[in-house]
Amino acid sequence: MAIAKVALDVPLGSLFDYRTGDFGPLQGQLVVVPFGRRKVVGVVVELAERSEIADDRLRRIERILPVEPLPQDLLNLTRFCSDYYLFPFGQVLLSALPPMLRRTRFSGPAISWEYVLTPAGRNLQANAFPRAATVKRRLLITLLESPALPQSQARTLSARAPALLQEWMALGWVDKRPSAAVTPVIPVTVAEQVPELTEEQRQAVEKVSATFGTFSPWLLDGVTGSGKTEVYFRLIEMAIARGSQSLLMVPEINLTPQLEARFQLRFPGVRLVSLHSELTDVERYERWLAAFAGDAQVVLGTRLSVFTPLPRLGLVIVDEEHDVSFKQQEGLRYSARDLAVFMARQRGVPIVLGSATPALESYQNACSGRFGHLHLSTRPAARPPRIRLIETRVERQSHGLSEPLLQAIRERLAHGEQSLVFLNRRGYAPALACRACGWAAQCSRCAARLVWHLRAARLRCHYCGHEEHLPSACPACGNQDLKGLGQGTQRLEETLAGVFPGARILRIDRDSTRRKRSWRAMRDDIRGERVDILVGTQMLAKGHDFPKLTLVAIVNPDGALFAADFRAAEKLFQQLMQVAGRAGRAELPGEALVQTQFPEHPLYQALLRQDYPAFADEMLAERKRSGFPPFVYQALLRAEALSEQSVMDFLAQAHRGVEGHHDAVTLYDPVPAAIARVAGHHRAHLLVQSSSRGDLHRFLTSWYPMLAQKNAGKVRWSIDVDPLEL
Ligand code: ADP
Ligand code: ZN
Ligand code: ZN
Repeated sequence: MAIAKVALDVPLGSLFDYRTGDFGPLQGQLVVVPFGRRKVVGVVVELAERSEIADDRLRRIERILPVEPLPQDLLNLTRFCSDYYLFPFGQVLLSALPPMLRRTRFSGPAISWEYVLTPAGRNLQANAFPRAATVKRRLLITLLESPALPQSQARTLSARAPALLQEWMALGWVDKRPSAAVTPVIPVTVAEQVPELTEEQRQAVEKVSATFGTFSPWLLDGVTGSGKTEVYFRLIEMAIARGSQSLLMVPEINLTPQLEARFQLRFPGVRLVSLHSELTDVERYERWLAAFAGDAQVVLGTRLSVFTPLPRLGLVIVDEEHDVSFKQQEGLRYSARDLAVFMARQRGVPIVLGSATPALESYQNACSGRFGHLHLSTRPAARPPRIRLIETRVERQSHGLSEPLLQAIRERLAHGEQSLVFLNRRGYAPALACRACGWAAQCSRCAARLVWHLRAARLRCHYCGHEEHLPSACPACGNQDLKGLGQGTQRLEETLAGVFPGARILRIDRDSTRRKRSWRAMRDDIRGERVDILVGTQMLAKGHDFPKLTLVAIVNPDGALFAADFRAAEKLFQQLMQVAGRAGRAELPGEALVQTQFPEHPLYQALLRQDYPAFADEMLAERKRSGFPPFVYQALLRAEALSEQSVMDFLAQAHRGVEGHHDAVTLYDPVPAAIARVAGHHRAHLLVQSSSRGDLHRFLTSWYPMLAQKNAGKVRWSIDVDPLEL
């Protein structure tokens, strides 16, 4: 074949033709090619005898990168992703690869190292170390039970493991060697870690494992603490025993260390790699390679891990599948959960979507029989949290906290238990205002209020990141008595410190965990019981397990009840169930308090009964009546520009261009976005809807090139398929 059709990281849909020369590249091969005046990395997607391009204008592949050709599966997955989300194929494919591989100077695998015990080391026994030396014990057990410990995994075992390994090398217990291909490890479980399954868990494991080797989608619908993770572990164990790789996806990078530690404790020696956005390029490449080479038996990762090449894939699990973090909110707006389902079908393997509060889309799929429906209805190791509503119209409050709520915290303090006070708003106060003239601090670049951050003594825009000094007086009238309106986590922290002067309070939000690793240290402090009261945002709502945490106090979540977004209620309920589920996960019983103005609202009443199915049924009935997803399919044309006029013109033209041509889809009028201006750009969108996914897709495919033609370049636009935020 004389011609290679190459995908490049450029915003054009087409492939580029190059002469293969003497290289004879294979399909899927990474190559360096000239492009304009640059040299870039591309992927050979097809080979052909001839090209449409004139012979003298065809350029030649420069060289082949020293990596195995990418598998056809990955090309198919990225092709599907590109078609479905209407995003240039080359950009999808290249961005799915580790950054190292996109460098033209890439020269081959870096050497990875691994640790093995010397004969002297093999004679050691775990009880040579004092009981309290858990890291040493765990490290030794891992080394004893596996042929080798890859360097990259030592760190994930414990932050202290690398230093310990150095010590043990000096003592002659351990050797370091370059890792070659390793033989698969048979899982060895540490017996005392293994609970006996409940009947529901046993059934879930049995049903899913009966479908190994075929595409079979499952919804694992289990209340928080019901042992979903235990089900995942059993299935992964069985997949490993069959010689397969498993992909375990989680919504947040913060959830990976805990799960990884739990997994390694349970299956020492099994090769698990975690993939997320905070790795160095070398780490990411090495782990990707371990997965690609089939060495990694389990890949644990956030949404980008869906693009990991896994030649022996046997099982896919998506934990907390309802979480909106699975949807990328910029650029290529893909849903990693939905792609995972596509991939499972393509590869013929089972996929388990797990959640205590499934997305209504998944719930509907389970109800209609498209997904198998598995239930875990009880907590095997704890009682469900008791939920209580506190009506703020009745209870007196000081600084936004009611007496029953403070009393509940007081009791926890007296018993040496932990409380979590949940408020989904960071900063000190969401607004800074002048009572004299009504002025409020606004971002100059966005249609949004500035948030007061106390410690930094600054006003910050949470949309564009703009910051300014706190004004000493009102810029409009000169009044020096400016007031913070409402409360954020910083102010809540301050209030609690005033009420409970002796308590150790820790605030956890995106501001306090900005530094790398700080979240890990905080988590250790919580687990080590060096914290009495946690104050936090949704970062704390998900998946974490703190045995001493027995009280969750949710402060004023009412705002979402009346939001315009039709998904707001679903998200609020999911969030409240999740955060309430943090209470009482071990022996101690848990309680969740919700401080609200509207205790009689049906959403809170369903929450009180902890009855997600009833709530979901009601929401689905409502969605069906009003014609919302999942009963219709949507796409959003988003546009932004410096001038409001050009945004609205662009959308109006986009709308006009198709009038009368498409009966099967409905186009709504263009409307400004909820935050109509961000960083100086006006934003608006146009909603397209259809009762048929196929019709919607056909429409979008014909609309897209038309939009690309119309746009004079002043307007930035994108299509968001299955949008989660309107
Ligand atoms: P989920 O993932 O559903 O929130 P986990 O799998 O984390 O729940 O389980 C919650 C707690 O219950 C954990 O401490 C776990 O060890 C324990 N657990 C899970 N399954 C069982 C079981 N069958 N018997 C006893 N304890 C269990
Ligand atoms: Zn004023
Ligand atoms: Zn701003």
